[in-house]
Amino acid sequence: MSQTPKIAIVGGGAAGLMAAITAAEEGAKVWIFERNREVGKKILASGNGRCNISNTALHPNNYFGRHKGFVNDALHTFNFHHFQKFCRSIGLFLHIQSDGRVYPLTNEAKTVKMLFEERCHALHVTIQCDCAIERITSDDTHYTLHSASQCFEGFDALIIATGSEAAPQLGGTNDGMGFAQVFGHDLIPTYPSLVGLHLAPPYPAALAGVKTTAELTLLVDREVQAQCEGDLLFTQYGISGFAALDLSHGASYALIQERSVAVALNLLPQFAPQELASQLGKLTASMRERTISALLCGLVSSKIVPHLLLSCRIDPHTPCAQIGTKALKQILHTLRHWRFEVTQTHGFKHAEVSGGGVSTEMIDPQTMASKRHKGLYFAGEVLDVVGERGGYNLHFAWASGYLAAKAASRS
Ligand SMILES: Cc1cc2nc3c(=O)[nH]c(=O)nc-3n(C[C@H](O)[C@H](O)[C@H](O)COP(=O)(O)OP(=O)(O)OC[C@H]3O[C@@H](n4cnc5c(N)ncnc54)[C@H](O)[C@@H]3O)c2cc1C
Repeated sequence: MSQTPKIAIVGGGAAGLMAAITAAEEGAKVWIFERNREVGKKILASGNGRCNISNTALHPNNYFGRHKGFVNDALHTFNFHHFQKFCRSIGLFLHIQSDGRVYPLTNEAKTVKMLFEERCHALHVTIQCDCAIERITSDDTHYTLHSASQCFEGFDALIIATGSEAAPQLGGTNDGMGFAQVFGHDLIPTYPSLVGLHLAPPYPAALAGVKTTAELTLLVDREVQAQCEGDLLFTQYGISGFAALDLSHGASYALIQERSVAVALNLLPQFAPQELASQLGKLTASMRERTISALLCGLVSSKIVPHLLLSCRIDPHTPCAQIGTKALKQILHTLRHWRFEVTQTHGFKHAEVSGGGVSTEMIDPQTMASKRHKGLYFAGEVLDVVGERGGYNLHFAWASGYLAAKAASRS
């Protein structure tokens, strides 16, 4: 390698920007090639424009991928305190919520993008936007990058930080997987994650727009695989909202394996089963004239009640006096286990992240270096690493970008 290493970074997202700053601070000459008109579009969209930038409680269990433990080194070397120190160094102040989620103090994702970009400019990183890299070649010592109209030569090291095909409207592609394959890397099939779930009929599409809190249970091949409680949004196609997104990784992964996937909704998680049974029993006994529909409207949204009763095959106009023990049991069961088959996810376009990617088997977890090709590094979501909701995905992008750049600048 020449005295001042020349490093190319494909992708100007979170991982690419962090890699560019780190490599330039190490003294390398750095180029970012970005297909969008501007860098950091996913950063801008993240956390509903607030950017849940990291989490104070980072643990390997918050990540999925075929090779368990791949993230250990990255989370250890570039932990939250390291990240916080880095943020201070670029003038980015953070707000830590009581649940451990971290946001910029301004609560604005655009601050993050702006300060990363500013730092790149100050370090003379060349940012080449509107430049989709189509092909990468190497003569074993140097890399050449080809766009449709240009060719960029003479790079000592290459960091592929092209993200995933999630949210293609923000620039998401799986180009990085293609580049990896050319250099002999294996690929793990991708699937959308942190995404809404499509439910099969009799799911009532008329529920679209109703919001509630619920406990969701994911059933794969009829076995309970995961549970989570939180906001639930009914949509035309099925379910979204934080609770559904949190279950979506397991559901999506099971779907690509062609396993049977179902979700059970507990619409009243705040009640213990016995307590709910006793409350409902008392109410139906004391309000004998009231219709069962009117009675249930005091417990769950009035928009949900007719559909719930329909699925119990009970006429909503039935007076409580006529609701027998069997019908009451059925209502109770449905309130706590309203079950639907999951047919598919809402797709990459609506997914926050993608599972799968470049297999980490041939990647050094301490440096993100390819074990197949000298001078080649990977960072961020292009790798077969996907995190839970809560700042974990962005943190892995920062951490892997940092490790890759440190190693690329000294190799
Ligand atoms: C709506 C939404 C909200 C999210 N909210 C959060 C959140 O709050 N917290 C969190 O932790 N995570 C969140 N995520 C996930 C997080 O944004 C990603 O995990 C993270 O941005 C991945 O960083 P990356 O650098 O690997 O990829 P990206 O940020 O996707 O960057 C990759 C870049 O490479 C470019 N590119 C792709 N192919 C090429 C090519 N051939 N040539 C040149 N350039 C190319 C793309 O245009 C893109 O700019 C969210 C994602 C979405 C979509």
